[in-house]
Amino acid sequence: MSEHKNISIFEHLNVKPVINGCGIYTDLGGSRLSPEVWAAMEEMNERFAHLPELMERAGARIATTLGAEAALITPGAAAGIMLGTAACMAGTDGAVSQRLPDVRGLKSEVLIQRSHRYKYDRQASMTGASLVEVGSETGATADDFTAAIKEDTGMILYPAHLESKAGSVPLAEVAAVAVRHDIPVFVDAAYMNYPTSVMSSFVARGASLVTFSAKYFGGPNAGGFIMGRRDLIEAVSNVHFTQYESGAYLKYGRPLKMDRQIVVAVICALEEWLGMDHEERLREYAACVEVLRTGLEGTPGLDLTPMCFTMDERLVPEPVNCLVIGISETSPMDGETLEQKLADDNPRILTVRDPGLRAKEHISDNIVVVVDVMTPEEAAHVARRIHALASG
Ligand SMILES: *Cc1c(COP(=O)(O)O)cnc(C)c1O
Repeated sequence: MSEHKNISIFEHLNVKPVINGCGIYTDLGGSRLSPEVWAAMEEMNERFAHLPELMERAGARIATTLGAEAALITPGAAAGIMLGTAACMAGTDGAVSQRLPDVRGLKSEVLIQRSHRYKYDRQASMTGASLVEVGSETGATADDFTAAIKEDTGMILYPAHLESKAGSVPLAEVAAVAVRHDIPVFVDAAYMNYPTSVMSSFVARGASLVTFSAKYFGGPNAGGFIMGRRDLIEAVSNVHFTQYESGAYLKYGRPLKMDRQIVVAVICALEEWLGMDHEERLREYAACVEVLRTGLEGTPGLDLTPMCFTMDERLVPEPVNCLVIGISETSPMDGETLEQKLADDNPRILTVRDPGLRAKEHISDNIVVVVDVMTPEEAAHVARRIHALASG
C-alpha cells in the first residue's frame, strides 16, 4: 500500500496512526502481515472458495505440518477456547450445537487449577460451561484433579504459559489423570510458538486439543487455530461457523465466522514462521534497539538499557527487543508526562511504562520501547521525538 493511500485512510477516518512500541496486543491490531502473506490474501480475494472445503484443507495442512491428527483454523485463540469447550460438550451432536449455551444434561464442568485462573478462561464459561477450581492459590496436585473429577466433568483447561508457575501440576501429570477418566485436556498455547519445536510438544505431552493465536506468529489479529485429536476436531467442526445456512442445525459458532482471506493468511503466516531464520529475526530486533539507543545517546537525564520484554511482560536481559529508558530525578520531564506526550503525538508513539523498575540510583521512572513490530525507520523517528520532548 502506498504511503499516500495509507495516510489518506487515516485522515478519512480522523484516526491517528500508531507507532507500536509495546509489542503484540489485540488493541494495537496484532502484528504486521508480511508482503508474502498479504499477496496470498490478495490472490484469495480475487477468487472464491467453498469455505467448508477451504477450512478442511487448511486444517489438514496444519495438522500435517505440526504432527497432529487434525486441526481447524479459528478466528483467534480466544475463539479456539470457546469452540473447543463447546465441542467437548456437544461432540458431533448437531442438536446440542444448536442449543448451547443451554448445557442441561451435558458434561459442562471445566476444571482449571485455581492458580491458573486467567483472563481467557472467560471464553470457556461463555459457552454455558462452568469453571471448577482445583487446588489453591499456591498450587495443586494430580490427586486434587482426581478428586475433582465428577460425573459432569467435561474438560480440563490448561493455560500452557502458566505451567511454569510454582505449585502448578505439569501438563503431562494432568493428562495422565485425564486419560484415565476419558476427559479431554484443552491447552491454551496462544503464544507458545518459539522455539518453534514447542508448538508440537503439547500434543506429545498429552493435550487433547491445543489452540494458538496467529497474532503472535505474524498472522492476522483475528486468526488462530486449534489442533489435536481427530474426534475432537470433528466435534469442533460441529460447532464451527460453516454450514449454518446450508446445514440441518443452527450451529453454535456462527458468529465466529472467518473470511477466506484470513484463513489463507493464518496458513501462510504459520508456514513463514516455521521456516523463518529466527536468529536473524532476533538480530533485527537488537539492531532496531540500537537505532533507538544511538538516537537517544547523550540526551540529558536519560539512562538507556537494552533489555528483553518477555511475552508475559517481564524485563529480562536477553534476547534484546526493547530499550528501557530510565528517567533521572533531575530530568525536566517525568515519565508519565513523557508517555502521555508521546501517545498524543502524530503518529502516536505508544510505549510501555514501568515505574516499578527502579533498580538504578537517581532513576525515578522508566519508559520501555519494544521493537517487535517496529521498523528501523520508525525507531529513528521515536528516538528523535523522545530526544526532542525529553530535552524540554
Ligand atoms: C492473546 C491471547 C489469547 C487470545 O488470542 P486471540 O487470538 O487474540 O483470540 C489467548 N490466550 C493467551 C495467553 C493470549 O495471550
